[in-house]
Amino acid sequence: MEGNDKGSFRDHLATVDQHGKRNWIYANKPSGRLYKWRSIVSYIYFIIFFGLPFIYWNGHPIFMINIPKGKYIVFGKIFWSQDFFIFGLSMIIFIILIALFTAAFGRLFCGWVCPQTNFMEMMFRKVEYWIEGTASEQKKLNESPWNSKKIATKTIKHGLFFILAFIIANIFLSYIIGIEDLWHIITDPVQSHIRGLVSISFFSLVFYGVYAFFREQACTVVCPYGRLQSMMIDKNSMIVAYDYKRGEPRGKNDETHGDCIDCNLCVKVCPTGIDIRNGLQMECVGCTACIDACDNVMEKIHKPNKLIRYASENTIANGTPFILNKRMKFYSLLILILASILTFVIATQEEVEITVMRTPSLLFQEVGKDSISNLYNIKLLNKTYNQLNLTVNVSDNIGNTKIMGAETIKVNKEDQGAATVFVTLPRSYIKKRKSKIHLSFYNGHELVHEITTNFIGPGKH
Ligand code: SF4
Ligand code: SF4
Repeated sequence: MEGNDKGSFRDHLATVDQHGKRNWIYANKPSGRLYKWRSIVSYIYFIIFFGLPFIYWNGHPIFMINIPKGKYIVFGKIFWSQDFFIFGLSMIIFIILIALFTAAFGRLFCGWVCPQTNFMEMMFRKVEYWIEGTASEQKKLNESPWNSKKIATKTIKHGLFFILAFIIANIFLSYIIGIEDLWHIITDPVQSHIRGLVSISFFSLVFYGVYAFFREQACTVVCPYGRLQSMMIDKNSMIVAYDYKRGEPRGKNDETHGDCIDCNLCVKVCPTGIDIRNGLQMECVGCTACIDACDNVMEKIHKPNKLIRYASENTIANGTPFILNKRMKFYSLLILILASILTFVIATQEEVEITVMRTPSLLFQEVGKDSISNLYNIKLLNKTYNQLNLTVNVSDNIGNTKIMGAETIKVNKEDQGAATVFVTLPRSYIKKRKSKIHLSFYNGHELVHEITTNFIGPGKH
């Protein structure tokens, strides 16, 4: 996009000076229509983020990503590490969805729902305005010598920042280990949960460091999505854009200039310190603060608002309305196909998974004169919330089975189990060296799983 034809803004980061030192961004507090909407979205976001780990359904959390145990619960449905295909497919869909969303709407995700932006702009920065005042008051405070007022203000701010980071770290951890385990870590004697306490302390310090010091650099320097957006965005993508046709030449509010009065308020409000009039830049997180700032200016000078607005480059340059281009249509079709496959896989997924393997190195055993037996190792995964007491039969009752060391195969709820089972068939049935048999697993009278496996016999004599 045009605007500043010198292009000098591309030579450096707005947050770094020519000596490579950090330029601390003192962003003005935004106000306006979009900021109000973003605040509402952030309240919903915080309610969901802080509330979700406490929501239980049938005695279980409805959402949990327990990486240490390899157990994941999404809307009450359990997935295990063994469901890697579902996880992989979901990730592919998610990545294509991001590519589609970015191609269509730029960094809308970053500005409105990204946790980093929400916590930074809608929580920590609001606390900062509350304690240290406006952007210029913050700057003045930082540049002033240390005195009792400055020490007190900084102590209160950083104390509150750390408390917020500590709460976020706890909730974050509860998504991984569940709120009950988190509660044990907090209430049990310290020595019982050293690892848990180290994790909480580590995450608290990381979040505190990011929101108190690292801030917008997480978006402009670290976030891979920010780096990738230049690949995904094209001239049809809706982005936060300055209407240079209407705004230039910038200057006084008179007949000889465009609508931009060069007040710089759109720059002063930007949390990443960039000038959107230079066109799309990698540092723009699409927060819309500059749209609100400019709309407020336009109202004051009695000009139509939306000099900065959501628009594609083609819209600004040629007035072309937003259209779904071929790439977006292709992404949409791909998502539809993959989402259908995922839905089918989840809908047909079994809640009890069983694998049966013949015990290695054992061929078959002769039982008396008229029977042959094979020994099987059985592995089970119980994804239900109930304990299973399984019996196993050979389908069509052509033989019998014996579970080693127990009457039934017990598998605790949401757990894995193993058993060793002898299957004995009449010799008259074994016509070949390798025969197919079907094993049926019952929980009480309920058939929970059927499986086909090989039975080895002596073959024809
Ligand atoms: S806020 Fe609007 S009028 Fe002021 S400098 Fe930015 S684009 Fe120009
Ligand atoms: S340029 Fe505008 S939308 Fe982009 S980060 Fe700055 S204020 Fe937010």
